[in-house]
Amino acid sequence: MKYFIISISVIFSGCTTKSVFRFPASEQATCSSLLQSLLEIDPRLQKITKQLLESAKKEKDGKLIIESEYHETLQKLWPQHELEFILNNPEVYREAISDFPLLTEAQVKASLRSKDVPEEVIDSMRLVNILHRGFDGKLHPGQLIVHKDAEKSTIEIFKILAEESEFPMTSIRPVNLYDWSDELSVKMNNSSGFNWRLVGGSDEVSDHAFGSAIDINPYLNPWVKDGTENDRYNVNRAGTLTADSDIVKIFKEHGWAWGGDWEHSKDWQHFYRPEIPLNNFGKREVPE
Ligand SMILES: [Zn+2]
Repeated sequence: MKYFIISISVIFSGCTTKSVFRFPASEQATCSSLLQSLLEIDPRLQKITKQLLESAKKEKDGKLIIESEYHETLQKLWPQHELEFILNNPEVYREAISDFPLLTEAQVKASLRSKDVPEEVIDSMRLVNILHRGFDGKLHPGQLIVHKDAEKSTIEIFKILAEESEFPMTSIRPVNLYDWSDELSVKMNNSSGFNWRLVGGSDEVSDHAFGSAIDINPYLNPWVKDGTENDRYNVNRAGTLTADSDIVKIFKEHGWAWGGDWEHSKDWQHFYRPEIPLNNFGKREVPE
């Protein structure tokens, strides 16, 4: 399906309790065809399709207003995603919001072998089944690939989170479900552990290549480099990590360091165990 929409952003204003979809004045799509596209992509909206269509009004300046009673519903469903990305990647989005078949460790290891990950690294990875709170407030199954030395604390951390924390996460899936594309996984705000990759924009091996790091809600908690800002990082938004977040405290109590504590750049999403690569792989280099 081809969309004419060039750029769309969603503005949720707590004061006006209206959902405003803004699109260019030259936009040809009618209000209802735009909404129809969104509804086709997100089946969870089908229960309120008729009401949404009736309540939507397109204003002269190109804003699409949806009346207040659906504001909360929409905010919960699309807490972090860019509508433009959803519209252009409906299959990815549909996959992300549906329950997914849990992988077996054998499937994960076969996938790693197909990516030429060294056997030494594959052998030391473990697939951990956990539960996490979603943005709907309910518990959902998730899976993390971590180094065997991080397995025990990962299980303990997520057990405590599931029992005691309200902190929401969109999904926790091994990145092989995104064909090992970190970019795609991040755009879907997917939390994950292992990935055979370098640090973004460098030739340094990532902690993730040793299964010694976990990224939480990476779209909402970007890596913010020295002296820059990123408006995706908004401490008032659910799922955003700060020093006061219970999840940050729980990770630290279990021996994990946090990228939000770095002095200069801040990798808000990043939890890691620096001793694991050193103890197991010697230098911080990709093993031959
Ligand atoms: Zn990370």
